[in-house]
Amino acid sequence: MTKIQSFKYHIEKLDKHYLWHPFTQMKEWMEANPLIITEGRGSFLKDITGKWYIDGVSSIWVSVHGHRKKEINDAIKEQVDRISHSTLLGLTHPPAAILAEKLIKLIQISEGTQLRRWEAKKPSVSQPLNFSTSQLPELSRVFYSDNGSTAVEIGLKMAFQYWQHKRIKGKKTFLSLTNAYHGDTIGAVSVGGIDLFHNIFSPLLFKTYKAPSPYCYRCELGKEYPSCKLLCLQEMEKIMRKHHKEIAALIIEPIVQGAAGMIVAPSGYLKGVRRLCSKYNILMIADEVATGFGRTGKMFACEHEDISPDILCLAKGITGGYLPLAATIASEKIYNAFLGELRDLKTFFHGHTYTGNQLACAAAIANIELFKKEKTLNKMQGKINFLKKEMDKIKGLHHIGDIRQKGFMVGIELVKNKKTKEPYPLEDKMGWEVCCKAREKGLIIRPLGNVVVLMPPLSISYQELKSLVRITAEALMKVTE
Ligand SMILES: *Cc1c(COP(=O)(O)O)cnc(C)c1O
Repeated sequence: MTKIQSFKYHIEKLDKHYLWHPFTQMKEWMEANPLIITEGRGSFLKDITGKWYIDGVSSIWVSVHGHRKKEINDAIKEQVDRISHSTLLGLTHPPAAILAEKLIKLIQISEGTQLRRWEAKKPSVSQPLNFSTSQLPELSRVFYSDNGSTAVEIGLKMAFQYWQHKRIKGKKTFLSLTNAYHGDTIGAVSVGGIDLFHNIFSPLLFKTYKAPSPYCYRCELGKEYPSCKLLCLQEMEKIMRKHHKEIAALIIEPIVQGAAGMIVAPSGYLKGVRRLCSKYNILMIADEVATGFGRTGKMFACEHEDISPDILCLAKGITGGYLPLAATIASEKIYNAFLGELRDLKTFFHGHTYTGNQLACAAAIANIELFKKEKTLNKMQGKINFLKKEMDKIKGLHHIGDIRQKGFMVGIELVKNKKTKEPYPLEDKMGWEVCCKAREKGLIIRPLGNVVVLMPPLSISYQELKSLVRITAEALMKVTE
């Protein structure tokens, strides 16, 4: 046995003896040959034997400028030589404060363009707008935590407490969507809508209202876009009309419902949701944990429809895929409702030990600066179109029911029967089989059920994109033949 082989064997033994992996049936894991990653560079990952793979899902949707990016590495090294962590409870520090300003400016720049466009486009009579520019919330306060689920929990608790302070006591529940995914903690699961993950926990969850998912390929309402005239929005309005006195906030993944299989909402849907929230006095929480930081081709997905939420949740891409960090960003209106004397008990009693960790904030600052320096979003536009053209080439394959893409979020939905849209049974693990084949050919991807997901780092090259699609197509054909 070579030195490398024995090291591989050693790690595998430790893993199988001591680890419990997320979202993993460990019985299967114990029988499988684990891939052990030891290195990364750009869009690639290297395993312990020295083989390189394209990181086709950005290490679960986080990598932005690629692995081992000099500027982010340097920022972390510089910070580590000063201090790695101090608390935000009763103290502050430069990376947290500087990053907060950067985040707010990043949002305001996007909002600025929104507002100008908004004003240029006077509301037409046929589509009455129930709110004006001045009523669009201005996000202004950053509350840190360390992952997407906590960013969501914080958003929910803020929204709830906001109405209590406003003495509108009945607003105690939430409206969310079927097929929604907002994380794995209990509050986030309560507003989730993926039965496969969430059903078992139902006795633990608080009650929420559920509006239909804008899943056009399998419309819950049996309609077709655009002749449906967004009936799903009308269904949402029915719920709001009836229950707005109980609903503190609506939570939504703007434009793309990620974990449900990259479900892309039809044009006009998100704006309609914003309009309904304003009309019924319901706070809007945008969970941009997956879509934020350029993933959809704009810095934030809300920009596609010129809207801003009352609360914005960010995580995954915030540190460029380096360190756990999240931010829940609230409007000044919400923030102000929490101000008062100590005895008023208006304080937001919430905080995590590693809130605003210095290393993570330093990485996030470097990540944001890189967007400007490398014109990441600009360069991405051509690559998005290129990827779309490449995807169009494989659309005709027998078992591809639907291909959905927004920016660098792609879902390829496999079906047993294209005509009837009959899905493959879960036990067939078709998505997983495709990903296994792809791995043999040097591509790491991870499916969501029958949906094969492509989510490359924003920095991926045209050449690498081409390989990504070629290997995916080869694996698809091999498995579905
Ligand atoms: C991943 C994800 C979360 C949960 O984030 P974690 O960091 O895994 O807790 C929440 N919302 C959305 C939309 C996500 O994609």
